[in-house]
Amino acid sequence: MRVKLTSMFFAAAMLPATLWAAPAPSQQCPDKGAYVQVLGAGGPELTTGLASTSYLIWQDGKARVLIDAGAGTAMNFKQAGAQMADLDAILISHMHVDHVADLISLLKASYFDGREVPLPIYGPTGNQLTPGMTDYMQRLLGLEGLYPYLNNFLAEAPDPSFSKASYRWVPRDIQPSETPTSFALGDLRFASADAKHGGVPALAWSVTLEDKTLFVTGDSSGPGYLKAMADEADIIIAHNALPQSYSGPVERLHMKPDAIATIVGQSKASTLVLSHFLDRTATSSVQQETQVVLAASFKDEIAFAQDFDCYPL
Ligand SMILES: [Zn+2]
Repeated sequence: MRVKLTSMFFAAAMLPATLWAAPAPSQQCPDKGAYVQVLGAGGPELTTGLASTSYLIWQDGKARVLIDAGAGTAMNFKQAGAQMADLDAILISHMHVDHVADLISLLKASYFDGREVPLPIYGPTGNQLTPGMTDYMQRLLGLEGLYPYLNNFLAEAPDPSFSKASYRWVPRDIQPSETPTSFALGDLRFASADAKHGGVPALAWSVTLEDKTLFVTGDSSGPGYLKAMADEADIIIAHNALPQSYSGPVERLHMKPDAIATIVGQSKASTLVLSHFLDRTATSSVQQETQVVLAASFKDEIAFAQDFDCYPL
């Protein structure tokens, strides 16, 4: 529907001053120290008022690692003051829409960011339900893919009229496994393990920076071996798609609060951040019940994330 700017102006002019909101300011984390910022605390519904899943690790005012990129991530990334040129890597948990839909928006936006070094992007291998990380990027950017005009972000494009990318995306597939796959990238250390998310290849990720470790369960039904990664973390982000009272088929995909408690109960972490809310877990009454279940096992801070929240690593 088209809206006339003149009528919008007069409507705004008639509002009390307190209701006439100025443009939202940039939502930056503090510029000293290491933080994880929640860019999207929602899931796939788009009705919670939260962007779909995404987390951003900051160090001294620079965005270093992006974890997942669901719908809304690209806008919130910029709103947070982040630059694609600063990123060391992108980590993807799995290829469901609410975790990857904004990758292509970020990629296109980075055309204007002046990045000049390759950008590694790590994600799971594929199967018949979802492509692996390398295949996903090929299906987006390959000459036979959806956006061949952006092929220059993957390889030297044969047609000089294509967008001239100043750098390349470098996708890597990681096989989900019970024993974590670990690797280093400069001063960053990464580990991933099979998150068990129905039939879709999925990774739980940990990132270590300045000797502090963030662990993100991702969408996970909570296999017991994730406990070892949670035990070593300083801060944990757990996905909370189910209330404790839920019973049904989605338990195959996600943890109820008592399952999260089993994973995080012995952790040395000082903060447990809950995220990936659906309508059924986003209400304050359900979150109070969730808090009670978790507080019986996890004795430090339990937070229910909102978009743009920053937590020290
Ligand atoms: Zn999800």
